[in-house]
Amino acid sequence: MNKSISAVLILLILIVIPFLIYAFLQVKSLDNDEKMADAIYEKQMEAVLFSLNQYADDMMSQWIRRLTNENEPISKNAFNLVLGNESIQMLVLRHIVTKKDSVFFNDYVEAGKNTKQEIKAWYNRKDSVMLQLANYLSAGFQKIQSADNWTPIDGLKPSQAGITVMIYDKDSTLYNVLFVFEPTYWVEQMLGAKMQKIALDEFSIAVLQESKKQVNPNIIYSTSSFNIDKTYVKRDLWILPDTYLAIQSKGVSFAELIRKRSRNNLYILFFSVLTLIIGAFIMIRNIRNTLKVAQLKSDFVSNVSHEIRTPLSLIRMHAETLMLGRITTDKKKQHYYEVIHHESGRLAYLVNNILDFSKIEANQKTYTMVNKDMNELVKQLYSNYAYTFKEKGVKCTLTLSLNAIPVKVDVQAFEEALSNLIENAIKYSDKEKYIAITTCIEGSYGCCKVTDKGKGIDKSIQGRIFDKFYRVEDALTQKTKGTGLGLNIVKHIMESHQGLVMVVSKLNQGSTFTLKFPIIENSK
Ligand code: ADP
Repeated sequence: MNKSISAVLILLILIVIPFLIYAFLQVKSLDNDEKMADAIYEKQMEAVLFSLNQYADDMMSQWIRRLTNENEPISKNAFNLVLGNESIQMLVLRHIVTKKDSVFFNDYVEAGKNTKQEIKAWYNRKDSVMLQLANYLSAGFQKIQSADNWTPIDGLKPSQAGITVMIYDKDSTLYNVLFVFEPTYWVEQMLGAKMQKIALDEFSIAVLQESKKQVNPNIIYSTSSFNIDKTYVKRDLWILPDTYLAIQSKGVSFAELIRKRSRNNLYILFFSVLTLIIGAFIMIRNIRNTLKVAQLKSDFVSNVSHEIRTPLSLIRMHAETLMLGRITTDKKKQHYYEVIHHESGRLAYLVNNILDFSKIEANQKTYTMVNKDMNELVKQLYSNYAYTFKEKGVKCTLTLSLNAIPVKVDVQAFEEALSNLIENAIKYSDKEKYIAITTCIEGSYGCCKVTDKGKGIDKSIQGRIFDKFYRVEDALTQKTKGTGLGLNIVKHIMESHQGLVMVVSKLNQGSTFTLKFPIIENSK
């Protein structure tokens, strides 16, 4: 299996899978946590509403205690109670045995002519309730009962609620008391202060009343703006039928907080894992690059040894033959001298390249710039190569621009760069050994182009041939001597001249390498 694929798989197993498991468990437990938080939250809210209900009951008990105040007759107590409590519209005292009703109205109420009949009608419908309340009382439990199925009584305000309770007066006479009050006033007067005290800044508490006309209940009282569309907990208000106490948190709920915190944790975890994966990939890439460079270096050492050994043994062999005096004719001797000269030249070229490279790597390469005509430099180098071209059967043409090309260059470096291009054009031309060298002016650059009809370079690797030690992995390159340094040195030389080297190449069709030097401006 490909090494990088297995590295990715290991990464997946070591990092991503545990993360996914953790995320899955987290999301699952989040649901449970939320439910639990919701349950706790609801219980707390219920407790608040329960205490409010108890408080409302206490307030009603106070009314009843005032009614049964033994210092005054019950009717006087009833009269005082109604006058002192604006919310009470009407109070009825019914003598259970005689069924005689004493009715007390608040001063803002004007009783209608049917009021008393309607009260009697109400009592007629509630015989069983009266019996039940009387039984409770004789058993010692004074139940305060809300008057449900209430039919509004004529003469009172349209908004009415009733509660009823059995009492004994000081002579132990059994009475039923019917309170009819205005619910909004009543809530405001009896519960308002308590609700405000409980709610503070954290909650909003409201009293809601079911509405037959609309879906949402009516808010008859609330401590602060109660949002009916937001979640809230509601419980019956014991005293009033079809009325609820409702409570909601003003800020974010506990469950929402948990959800938010868990989501943030997941995001942080996700980004950490992502960073870890990116880091691991960068590390793997670096290791692979380091290994590659190590491999390239070792290839380089064996290439260089091979490259040095060939010309050296040729020089040695030819020199020895000459020394032994075995060569008799001058023509043959001349040939031997030429071989020695040519091979030592190759050796010098190779050693120069290596020395240059090591200087470049150590940042010690220096250039001595002089003003020159590029045409002259190219012409000179071309004539130096005449022997090599002939020797290797290379067909070479030279086309110089009509005008001089004034450039500022280090002559040696210029020759080195151009030599590398010419050497490559010879080396990497297989059948058709053809080289065209041209000079021209392109914009503010003086150009020297070396074109061959050799093996060409695939587009995908054209960017890499300038890297140090890089050699294309094809058959021709493998059997051709080289160090992988030539083009890297050319690139460095061109950068040091504020110039550039470019390649245009097509696989199996040939290449054109261009050296571009800036033209000296004041000579234009
Ligand atoms: P070397 O020639 O020592 O291998 P270079 O740096 O000069 O190193 O070249 C790098 C690679 O670029 C070579 O291995 C070769 O495959 C490719 N290359 C360079 N010049 C040419 C060319 N003219 N035609 C085809 N391929 C070339």
